[in-house]
Amino acid sequence: MAKGKKTLTRNFGQPVDNDQKLMTAGSPGPVLIQNIHFFEKLAHFNRERIPERVVHAKGAGAHGYFEVTHDLTKYTKAKFLSKVGKRTEVFARFSTVGGEKGSADSARDPRGFAVKFYTEEGNWDMVGNNTPVFFIRDPIKFPDFIHTQKRNPRTNAKDPDMFWDFLSLTPESIHQVTILFSDRGTPKSYRHMNGYSGHALMWYNDKEEYVWVKFHFKTAQGIQNFTNQEAELMAGKDPDHATGDLFDAIERGDGPAWNVQVQIMTPEQAKTYRFNPFDVTKVLPHGDFPVMPLGRMVLNRNPENYFAEVEQAAFSPGNFVPGMAASPDKMLQGRIFAYHDAHRYRLGPNYHLLPINAPKASAMNNYQRDGFMRVDGNSGGGPNYNPNSFGGPVPDPNVAEPPFEVSGMAARHPEALTDDDFVQAGDLYRKVMTDEDRDHLIGNIVGHLGNAQKYIQLRQTALFGKADEDYGRRVATGIGLDVKEVQGLAEMTQEDRIKATEK
Ligand code: NDP
Repeated sequence: MAKGKKTLTRNFGQPVDNDQKLMTAGSPGPVLIQNIHFFEKLAHFNRERIPERVVHAKGAGAHGYFEVTHDLTKYTKAKFLSKVGKRTEVFARFSTVGGEKGSADSARDPRGFAVKFYTEEGNWDMVGNNTPVFFIRDPIKFPDFIHTQKRNPRTNAKDPDMFWDFLSLTPESIHQVTILFSDRGTPKSYRHMNGYSGHALMWYNDKEEYVWVKFHFKTAQGIQNFTNQEAELMAGKDPDHATGDLFDAIERGDGPAWNVQVQIMTPEQAKTYRFNPFDVTKVLPHGDFPVMPLGRMVLNRNPENYFAEVEQAAFSPGNFVPGMAASPDKMLQGRIFAYHDAHRYRLGPNYHLLPINAPKASAMNNYQRDGFMRVDGNSGGGPNYNPNSFGGPVPDPNVAEPPFEVSGMAARHPEALTDDDFVQAGDLYRKVMTDEDRDHLIGNIVGHLGNAQKYIQLRQTALFGKADEDYGRRVATGIGLDVKEVQGLAEMTQEDRIKATEK
């Protein structure tokens, strides 16, 4: 054995004598079935791939910490937020959404922005995006929406018709579409983008008082984006550029940071606000709900092993800690089911035992037992039912979230559109974007929508026109559509517009 090196072994610890040559019957000879190491090696190799995430398949991650910089304990009793200066270990994963695991980091796509906080009261996962809003507000539409961003079932290619057909039939997407086709849809790296919870979440204190809170992670590196051309060039030059950028920055001691801020809304404000504040297609305007500083997140340690720490990382918007809970946001409620379910399929029912997912500053104690890959002691000989008389773990009523009032008819309710779906997209276009932002937005849309069929172009361009007259006119002109026809369509109801643009 070479000095200072460990002996190569099989999976059950037996030393291996040769890893370069098979045992054969004579030379060249057929292979003997007793090449046990070889069969074990090949069989494991065949099983290396686990199911790819259906969404957010391509990602990069890093370890770090969150530090409280401002005292907001009057709103929440979460222990990890209990003291200025308190630090909590975190693991963050950034990703694109629609592409496969080998797709280009620079694709036009929202970016996933997920952070696992290993608190002393269990793990809290902030599972957000780099945009504050989403395309849909009802999770029943989610699988359909994602199918349209993926490959055509016949051609196996991305399909501008599918992409724009769905969006033009789903007008609530207009706000997110406007952000996606701005240069924020192609961030320069994972370090140069913000993260948002998108949903409102509940915060509650130990007096049973609660508020609704939205999280904003503002990049300390500053927002930097690619133009469409730069993004396309980067996809060819280095499809893993953002993965490499994050890794290299941390290796050279220049780990990225984000200033964490919150918007707070009282239950009274929520009840009387002019639109449904739990509609994830809308932001809470800063003017009505100013951001308050809370803390700082720093990423300063790269994973040692990509598969163990990044691929196996599993986040869920249903992972809350005492002091935090869900809001009535329908998309959030749908995600609370879907994420755990996806991980049970992808990683198995005991995925919470994987070191990257297991609590670090607290311990898991419950009566769940057995299942595939139960790799801890399965809670030994302790009781496996509750209640019991043998000293097993018991619930703590002190961590209960406060009751909050809900009422109403069980029905498929229409959205009460006091601010219709076009107001905030229009505000973004008119008030927030610079002339250059608008030029790029129009160019990016024209380059993509220009590949769809004309009736879909007309229907979608009318939606841009409903957000802002100039926005619709410029897209129509760019694609070569009749501006008057688009303006006419913009004035119709969605129902009439669909009829008027039937294939
Ligand atoms: P404000 O003028 O107070 O806020 C505008 C915000 O827009 C900025 O603070 C910045 O947020 C963000 N922003 C700046 N440039 C761009 C861009 N090119 N693309 C997308 N976002 C940009 O107005 P309101 O709060 O009333 O919001 C107006 C519009 O701004 C909204 O309709 C929404 O589209 C957009 N916006 C609002 C956010 C919010 O939480 N209120 C958050 C992000 C966007 P940031 O510092 O987070 O980048």
